[in-house]
Amino acid sequence: MLLLIYKRNIRNGCGGEILTDQFKPAPFNYCDYRCDQCDEQANCRVFKDDQERLLDHYRKGEDPYDPHVFMNDLKEIFGRTEKMIRKIAEEQGIDLDDTDKEEMPEVDPDEYVIYRLAYQYFKEASVFIKELEKTGIPDGLKPEFDDLVWYHTLIAAKAGRLVSGFIDDLFEEEINRMEEEGTVAVIRKGIELSRRALENMLSELPDCLLSIARLMEMLKGIERQIEMDIRRKV
Ligand code: SF4
Repeated sequence: MLLLIYKRNIRNGCGGEILTDQFKPAPFNYCDYRCDQCDEQANCRVFKDDQERLLDHYRKGEDPYDPHVFMNDLKEIFGRTEKMIRKIAEEQGIDLDDTDKEEMPEVDPDEYVIYRLAYQYFKEASVFIKELEKTGIPDGLKPEFDDLVWYHTLIAAKAGRLVSGFIDDLFEEEINRMEEEGTVAVIRKGIELSRRALENMLSELPDCLLSIARLMEMLKGIERQIEMDIRRKV
């Protein structure tokens, strides 16, 4: 229910601090969360909030990456978000205790070919990544390895996000279309950078030819499915 209200208010352009003035709308599914490589840092509220959080901990002499500190931050962020949503609900006369009437529709991502392909890639890439970790990653391949690791989960997660949007009628058609295009663009970016990483690995890791070729073929399969029909069911 909280998510439902949050989405409705984003749709209506009243998402509180998240959608204010100097910042572009929060990226949600449009970004790949690689803030260190992103040109949108100056316009991004998510990035600014995170920087402020880090700075605050450093000022207090705390390690922001300490699991205990991090969990406390998460608790605080969820608490703030819940308060914001409750305030919006109250302003709109929505009774949060009356939660049974509107349920979020359920989607089974496994019903969609695109998700299955992405998830299969995730599983096989995970095996390859573990093997590389065991044998050791050559220094020169560190950026490629980081890309491969980052995007093998992101592609699957974004494919899941994509298909879950197919039955989401909370947004206007135009917003749904933008959401979908944003998600597809991130998946494509993940495919492109993963492919480049694998190509570069190939010259340094000739023994991994078969695994690399297989992963590249799987990426191509996801890309092909995007071009053909992202809504196709199995
Ligand atoms: S700064 Fe980070 S959170 Fe913001 S758009 Fe860029 S990658 Fe996404």
